[in-house]
Amino acid sequence: MNKPRILIVGAGISGLALTKALVDLGFPVEVVERRSNEDPALGTGIYLPANAVRALRAIGLEEDLATHAKPVVRQRLEDHRGRPLTEFTVDRIWGEVGPCMATTRRDLHDLLHAMVDSDAVRYNTEVIAVTDEGAVTFADGTTSTYDLVVGADGINSAVRKSQFPGSSPRFLGQLCWRFIADDTAIPGITDWTARLGAKGRTFLTVQLGAGRVYCYADINSPAFTAPAGDWRTLFVDFGGPVPQLLEQGAAAHFAALYESRNTAWTRARTVLIGDAAHTLSPSMAQGGAMALEDAVVLADILERTPDVATALAAFQDRRAKRVAWVSAQNQRRDKARNLPGPLRNITLRHAGERLFKSNHAPLHDQP
Ligand SMILES: Cc1cc2nc3c(=O)[nH]c(=O)nc-3n(C[C@H](O)[C@H](O)[C@H](O)COP(=O)(O)OP(=O)(O)OC[C@H]3O[C@@H](n4cnc5c(N)ncnc54)[C@H](O)[C@@H]3O)c2cc1C
Repeated sequence: MNKPRILIVGAGISGLALTKALVDLGFPVEVVERRSNEDPALGTGIYLPANAVRALRAIGLEEDLATHAKPVVRQRLEDHRGRPLTEFTVDRIWGEVGPCMATTRRDLHDLLHAMVDSDAVRYNTEVIAVTDEGAVTFADGTTSTYDLVVGADGINSAVRKSQFPGSSPRFLGQLCWRFIADDTAIPGITDWTARLGAKGRTFLTVQLGAGRVYCYADINSPAFTAPAGDWRTLFVDFGGPVPQLLEQGAAAHFAALYESRNTAWTRARTVLIGDAAHTLSPSMAQGGAMALEDAVVLADILERTPDVATALAAFQDRRAKRVAWVSAQNQRRDKARNLPGPLRNITLRHAGERLFKSNHAPLHDQP
């Protein structure tokens, strides 16, 4: 039986992972990517929890990842002055699922890109619209028809806007800044440490190895634009290594944070994966993991289900509960960040590890 002709829109985390998985299975795949190869967000870091690393292992990336990423062995939560609230090793949270890793987005992108044929991705090619018949219109005015169109085109997905109008992600009421700092001369930085301040402020550091540390800082905000002035003044009351790290954060990458609640990801010949389907709060650091799992699951289902309509129904069914779980945990955590400091600190001191364990428990199962 002929395999369906597939267009993957977007060469980000999910699009490249799906390309690798489908090409390995012998599917004819085209991939288009709007940008050239320079995205400023690729200059920051990414934490890969154990289920993300497992998905990368499933597409054959584990060995290369190990040479470019740093294992995260411990997670630590502190108050904004650096006083410990709770600490545990990640194997207490993830058990047998495997290691957690941290790397730069650039390295992850390059590793994924190196796994697919160098000519496989057509850069500077933007999709504008998709129809139920699988007809795709590109920004240069050309059209082409596919048996299946995969929208892996991220938070502002054109595929989603075209096929699922009215399902835009909503602003979470949070803003963030991200940068990579040199931590060689800064004491007091461990694998993964989140420092929690008043009014929902967080300063997270994740070591990337080779003297680099990924810094992520966020605040609550009613507006989705960056406040006037130097953002670093928002964290002047933070202690430990934060003041020294902030000295290196003048050119941090700014983003407003969004999440989506739409639960329909398939229609006619279209399927959405990754952020296009389900933009998630970064609270659980599960956005990349869910995007990678989507890719692995969709490839598996397409291989075993030759009929596109049946495959898409199976995909929606298999992914819905898991993504809903992550979304619910994110919402719970996002609420908890606004608890009065003393109450939040007592809760984390007494039940931090237990809460992290229960947040992640269903994600131990294969996707
Ligand atoms: C601040 C922040 C921190 C995060 N931290 C983590 C973390 O530590 N760990 C984690 O697992 N996740 C994290 N995430 C989530 C993670 O980054 C995303 O879930 C992940 O990048 C989604 O991958 P994707 O492939 O769906 O989309 P993307 O990686 O955004 O890729 C989409 C691609 O599609 C392209 N594209 C867009 N429109 C078109 C078009 N019309 N035509 C052609 N191409 C198009 C884009 O240029 C892009 O290359 C974080 C997210 C944020 C916002």
